[in-house]
Parts: sequence; structure tokens; C-alpha cells
Amino acid sequence: MKVLILGGTGEARELAARLDGVAGFETVSSLAGRLREPVLPIGTARVGGFGGVDGLGRWLRDERVDAVVDATHPFAATITDSAVLACARTGVPLLVLRRPGWDPEPGDDWHRVPSLTAAAAALEGLGERVFLTTGRGGLAAFAPLDGHWFLIRTVDPPDPPLPTRMRLLLDRGPFSLDGERELFAAHRIEVLVTKDSGGPMTAAKLVVARELGLPVVLQARPPAPDAVIAATVAETVSWLETLTR
Ligand code: NAP
Repeated sequence: MKVLILGGTGEARELAARLDGVAGFETVSSLAGRLREPVLPIGTARVGGFGGVDGLGRWLRDERVDAVVDATHPFAATITDSAVLACARTGVPLLVLRRPGWDPEPGDDWHRVPSLTAAAAALEGLGERVFLTTGRGGLAAFAPLDGHWFLIRTVDPPDPPLPTRMRLLLDRGPFSLDGERELFAAHRIEVLVTKDSGGPMTAAKLVVARELGLPVVLQARPPAPDAVIAATVAETVSWLETLTR
């Protein structure tokens, strides 16, 4: 069975590693090619967009793909929409592997917002010193906020426009609890802005915000795709195994 893994996440790499060398499975992992130094999965990989729904559909036919696992990031909505449509057209079975979002715990002061523009608007009155961990895209929404200071953490440098009062920190997860504690203290952080990515690799900052009683502005996820959804790599492997029978 030839499986296309739409990747760019830890789960996608874990799935490729789990299927590597397993009799009856052949995988191709696909990356968008956004990062300067991507962490490559085990096994065969390809890099770059497919060219929308039509391009992906053609690729599935040309490469004789038997199943697609969309293990992209929960906020990568365009490629997920493409996968849903291309698989429906070509009749290739699709499973979307989505880690669950985060849930608030006692003591949390979370402000859920639908977009980064809404996140920027929500900052008024919540705190002046902001830890911004929403990724490289969409930071223009925060550029007009002259009354705030930002610690912006991204993997690769973001493109302007950016806030004028800011410090850029280039780093990639996983992030430890102690490391996040140090960062909040060193920069006297008053409010955290993030998106509801879910998973343990970047959750420590939420624990620190809770410990310090700080507000969190959380961008809500795009709507769930109309597809079979699994929460874990183990569930995904079971689904693939049922397809082989
Ligand atoms: P997106 O908005 O959903 O996708 C934009 C375009 O990039 C797609 O239309 C597709 O181009 C191409 N693309 C995206 N993922 C691809 C993949 N795995 N393989 C081949 N082409 C892909 O995605 P995004 O939010 O820019 O994220 C890009 C990648 O970074 C994703 O693979 C995602 O898993 C990873 N990532 C995203 C985030 C995030 O916060 N968004 C965080 C961590 C990792 P074509 O239309 O030409 O096919």
C-alpha cells in the first residue's frame, strides 16, 4: 500500500518512522518547503506544493497512491481542504490525523479569538509585554500596536511589517517548562498570545502563564475537515491496517 503522508509535524514524522520497513507499506512524506532547515522524516520525502486540488489529484493518480494521511498542522487549512477535495475526486481513502486542541484548567484566564486580527484587538487592557508565539505568518496584525512590547518566537525570521517595539527569538520546540519559566521572567511577560495547536511539545508556556496568573489570548482552530479523523498515530496505523485487509 502506497501512503502519502502530508507532513510538517511531529506526528507526520512519527507515522513515517512507524511505517518504515513494515511489510506491505510504502510511504512518501510531503513537506511544503517553508522552513530553511526542515526536520526531514525517515523514508522517502518530497518537498513543495502540488498546485492546488487539481495538482494533488493528478499526483495521487500518477503516483498510484492508495491512501492519504493528512498529518499537517491543525492550522494548515488550505492543504487539508485540498486533500479532502482531491481524495473525494480520485476515490483515494483519506484520514486526517489531528492532535486534540488544548483545554483550559482551573486558574487559566484564556481569551479565545477567531483570528490574529482579533487577537491583536483583544490585547488592549490585558498587558503591555506580550509573548507572541503564533508563528511567522500574519504578524502584520500586531504591527500597529505601538503601546505594546513583543517577544516574538518563530523558527525562521518573519517578514515585515512587524511591531516596532519587539525582540525576535529564533527557536523551535519542544520547549521545556524550566526554559519557558526563564523566558517569561527574563522578559517580564504580562500576556501570552498563541494558537490552539494542541500537543505536548509547545504546551509548557500555558503552564507558566497559569502559574503566574497571566492572561492567554488563544486563536481558535479552523473548522474540522469533513473527513475521517484520528487523534493519534496509533489510531492512524490501525486505520491503514484495516485498508489492507
Ligand atoms: P496551508 O496554508 O494549508 O497551505 C498553503 C499551501 O502550501 C498549500 O495550498 C500547498 O500548496 C502547500 N502545502 C502545505 N502543506 C503542504 C505539504 N505538507 N506538502 C505539500 N504542500 C503543502 O499551510 P501552512 O499553514 O502554510 O503550513 C505549511 C506547512 O507547515 C504545513 O505542511 C504544516 O503542516 C506545517 N506547519 C504549519 C503550521 C501553522 O501554524 N500553519 C505550524 C507548524 C507546521 P499547493 O496548493 O500548491 O499544493
